[in-house]
Amino acid sequence: MDTIIKTKDWAAGRIKEDEIKKYMDNGRDFIDDSGIIEKLKLNKTAEPSRIMEILKKSLAVETLTPDETALLLNVDDKDMLDEMEKTAAEVKRKVYDNRIVTFAPLYLGNKCVNNCFYCGFRSENDSSSRRVLEFNEVKKEIEVLTGKIGHKRLVVVYGEHPSMDIDYMTGSIKAIYSVSVQTKKGHSEIRRVNVNAPPLSVSELRKLKEAGIGTYQVFQETYNRQTYANVHPVNTIKGNYRWRLYSMHRAMEAGVDDVGIGVLFGLHDWRFEVMGLLYHAIELEKKFGIGPHTISFPRLEPAENTPFTKNNQNSVSDEDFKKLITVIRLSVPYTGMIITARETRALRKESFRLGVTQTDASSRIGIGAYSEGNTCQEGKKQQFFLGDTRSLDEVIKELAEMGYITSFCTAGYRCGRTGLKIMDLLRTGTEGKFCKQNAVLTFREWLDDFASPQTLEIGEKLISKEIEEIKTRIPKFYGEFINYYDRVKSGERDIYV
Ligand code: SAM
Ligand code: SF4
Repeated sequence: MDTIIKTKDWAAGRIKEDEIKKYMDNGRDFIDDSGIIEKLKLNKTAEPSRIMEILKKSLAVETLTPDETALLLNVDDKDMLDEMEKTAAEVKRKVYDNRIVTFAPLYLGNKCVNNCFYCGFRSENDSSSRRVLEFNEVKKEIEVLTGKIGHKRLVVVYGEHPSMDIDYMTGSIKAIYSVSVQTKKGHSEIRRVNVNAPPLSVSELRKLKEAGIGTYQVFQETYNRQTYANVHPVNTIKGNYRWRLYSMHRAMEAGVDDVGIGVLFGLHDWRFEVMGLLYHAIELEKKFGIGPHTISFPRLEPAENTPFTKNNQNSVSDEDFKKLITVIRLSVPYTGMIITARETRALRKESFRLGVTQTDASSRIGIGAYSEGNTCQEGKKQQFFLGDTRSLDEVIKELAEMGYITSFCTAGYRCGRTGLKIMDLLRTGTEGKFCKQNAVLTFREWLDDFASPQTLEIGEKLISKEIEEIKTRIPKFYGEFINYYDRVKSGERDIYV
């Protein structure tokens, strides 16, 4: 009983109205539901020449306007759609080249005071057994993730609960960074902890920044106010649409300038949601000069004892899903785009062509599931079910066969290439200069420490090609690069340009 009262008190003090109002424009939000509907109605059709003009703008790595994005969302003509896909692929190549970043999700607990109708962790789901990992258990997870699988990046996922408050978050991040594991030829550790957490206050976000996080993600789930209210009970913290909507404003104020936004597709009309993401990006660019570092677009998946996920009116078909990936790539050309193992292997494969830049692998979303094995993969301790459970080795092999190099580079935030600096590099296509070299160095590390013989063979071929490319494209840097490369080959780790 005492615990219930304490939890209620904790929840009651979370929302800080002044940290919402200060970011609003004369009492108005940057999301205007009827304005979005109007834009989609007014921009139903366009001449092919107008669409081609818009695509040119994307290729110049300029953020599209809401009118332009609405026009793309309404394109149905097959030839035009092909043209859009082709340009999306070109934009991606220009900004990110052939690099794909991999990460693992790490769920540290499933306690949550909220009651989101779609989530297996919701407070009213009494079939879910609840647990929050202690720091020594967190370290055990990391020993497997970085020591056996070879991950260098995580997205650490927190529920909203006093047992996972800001002190728990910073303590767990410290525990994660403290683990270093001996490998075949060197050592391995987690070098970038991205965080998917509930909305925090500015002072809490400063503490996360100090703890050394990479990206801070909060998904709005749906930008549509009515749908938001329908799935997030009003008497919960998450029931406050605006506290969530301005999470990224608070992050920027706290100096966390790599932020990730997202939508849970399937709650509301997908075209409306893409417009919401665009307005969010434009707002952050306008107020802080920095757009979202990443955009995520999970689709609603079935979850244990969560009937809402089963009869969903707004589910997004594979065709529409591919289209929304294409339009996001074209509309916010500089942003990183994340697809997760919620999706099937075939769809993930296609998404890389259309614009996706990051994905997870070897994922387990049960609490303690990496170190405790398959027993924790059962529904009761996880949030939803996965569509692709392949190992990191299998995913990397497939990516290499497709010509993509897996990058474990985590240099960006450690040498100040975040926020405005990274935006400039991305927009001018010069980020690749550093990133290609670091991708090769970290891929070499991973191949030597973790690859299976088949993946090693395919990886070697790819790496030779990449080294040739560095030699011809940036000859000025080649000498220094090869020196770094040889050092990695002889067992030195975590060096970057
Ligand atoms: N508790 C924090 C929050 O809600 O902001 C973060 C963790 S939550 C576990 C991470 C994300 O998982 C949510 O933002 C939501 O988009 C997604 N999610 C929840 N239920 C899902 C489901 N049934 N299928 C797919 N994704 C889901
Ligand atoms: Fe809690 Fe997040 Fe799940 Fe909502 S989505 S119930 S806030 S864990």
